[in-house]
Amino acid sequence: MTVRLRGDLSSLPSYIPGVSRPNAIKLASNESTASSHSKVVDAITQAAQGINRYPDNGAAALTDALADFLGVDPANLVTGCGSVALCQELIQITCESPEDEVVFAWRSFEAYPIVTKVAGATGVPVPLRPDHSHDLGAMLAAINDRTRLILVCNPNNPTGTVVTTEDLTHFLDAVPSDILVVLDEAYAEYVRDPDSPNGIELFRTRPNVLVLRTFSKAYGLAGIRVGYGIGAPEIVDALRKVHLPFSVNAIAQAAALAALEVRDELLERTNDVVAERERVSAALTDMGYPVAATQANFVYLPLGEASVDFARRSAEAGVIIRPYGTDGVRITIGDPHENDAFLSFATTVSREFA
Ligand SMILES: *Cc1c(COP(=O)(O)O)cnc(C)c1O
Repeated sequence: MTVRLRGDLSSLPSYIPGVSRPNAIKLASNESTASSHSKVVDAITQAAQGINRYPDNGAAALTDALADFLGVDPANLVTGCGSVALCQELIQITCESPEDEVVFAWRSFEAYPIVTKVAGATGVPVPLRPDHSHDLGAMLAAINDRTRLILVCNPNNPTGTVVTTEDLTHFLDAVPSDILVVLDEAYAEYVRDPDSPNGIELFRTRPNVLVLRTFSKAYGLAGIRVGYGIGAPEIVDALRKVHLPFSVNAIAQAAALAALEVRDELLERTNDVVAERERVSAALTDMGYPVAATQANFVYLPLGEASVDFARRSAEAGVIIRPYGTDGVRITIGDPHENDAFLSFATTVSREFA
């Protein structure tokens, strides 16, 4: 006799993390390449002295510091074990039956369909537009009386595209006010396009908008797992109810607090990433590759059927990138020499793939 598990588990796609190989350059997980800030490491070392105690479940010190930094009330702020945990918790607070629907663009963050299914709800993927950006009109048309949650990933992972403030504002005006709209802004710190919206401004006048941000990308803390949400107190309270107790651990809280204290230095580093992003995009365009317009710390090449082959050949050349089925490949912006290694590979195969 085998134990009885949920019948729908076999239909669950597994989250595929970026692969790594010894000595290979890893441009597959949108991580920061800069080594940890010494003040962050100091805070981690100090917090290690107290790990016999449970962490503060409400992460009060971090919540207050974040609220102060963002100019919001602490009641508007909730932390999570990475913003991916908050994604799952958002579905848990909005969906209660398999008929309840979660609308998101596709392709977008590959965790969305997974956490939707894990929570027992139904995902409604809405194809991107030909320029690989969100089709907000089609997402609006996908709304029905079963819709409970809409995820807008801006910039979109894996394509890097952004929606404009005007388009998003019209979209939010048209969405029924009893449907929660989540703006996932994991890459907000890399955005330089003045037409791209800042969720923190939008949530202030719209109680059905919640913004997700993370310490994993620009703050360089992917390994320690802290994300946060900004929204109306009722939504924040609901998220706290389903929060897995103590899942933002004491060392993570201390590290995030320290990272926030040195944020000017950490955020300054995003300028180097942005400069490299522009350089890599231009070089790939010159080689004849189709390149999506990106505002994140990665570039996306819609190579269609050739995507998996291109990524395999890149790995063989020592640079690991991320293929997305028959849609495209995503290349994280790394240090200049790492980007050069990828560009050199891309040059050698441009006749075949560009
Ligand atoms: C990386 C990423 C996150 C953040 O994940 P964490 O759990 O905070 O590490 C969230 N959303 C998107 C779209 C991402 O790409």
